[in-house]
Amino acid sequence: MISKESLIRLQQDLPPNVKLVAVSKFKPIEDILQAYNLGVKDFAENRPQELSQKMGVLPDDIRWHFVGHLQTNKIKFIIERVNLIHSVDSLKLLREIDKEAFKKGVVVNILLQVYISSEVTKQGLSQIELNEIAEQNELFKNINICGVMGMASFTDDVEIIKEEFSNLRRVFDNLKLIYFSNNDQFCELSMGMSSDYKIAIQQGSTIVRIGSMIFGDR
Ligand SMILES: *Cc1c(COP(=O)(O)O)cnc(C)c1O
Repeated sequence: MISKESLIRLQQDLPPNVKLVAVSKFKPIEDILQAYNLGVKDFAENRPQELSQKMGVLPDDIRWHFVGHLQTNKIKFIIERVNLIHSVDSLKLLREIDKEAFKKGVVVNILLQVYISSEVTKQGLSQIELNEIAEQNELFKNINICGVMGMASFTDDVEIIKEEFSNLRRVFDNLKLIYFSNNDQFCELSMGMSSDYKIAIQQGSTIVRIGSMIFGDR
């Protein structure tokens, strides 16, 4: 069972320029269909096999997102139908996605996951790695780099969260200015989850990834 009221309120509250991605990881098909029937068309998963299974049985017009850590040997499970991989966290992974996409004859949309939190457990690229990737962008013929994604620290301290999202915004703006100024596809700033999406929107988010607020606790 999803929380219908929260979902409807969320849909009404989001500014028109901010896209909602419903994070349905660990949740059953029926729950996803409930959200789908209330107008949600974008869903995200964080495990390749689970995404692949759900893609196989759910409506064709769903846009699927991947938000988890992706091992290179699992790329093939998702690459043909995924709309956006939010969580590219290494040059090696980027190269492998490009290779696999070439084999399958597809072009894959991705975001670069940036390390913004002070928590060592969180994944993400450093500024040096981001520059290294951005400089080589032209080499990846089967990849569209569409922007960046980041996760703030798990804390109640609004100031810390604000600071981290504002840093991510700055990283996005700098990459845009230096490497992607002629590239209209580089336009997405994926930041904000159930607990911090309002702060993220204030800091310029274009995509919020909401799980528990819609689907309940996992
Ligand atoms: C699980 C997850 C979310 C959703 O988190 P909630 O707190 O349930 O809204 C968003 N982004 C990523 C990367 C996730 O893994």
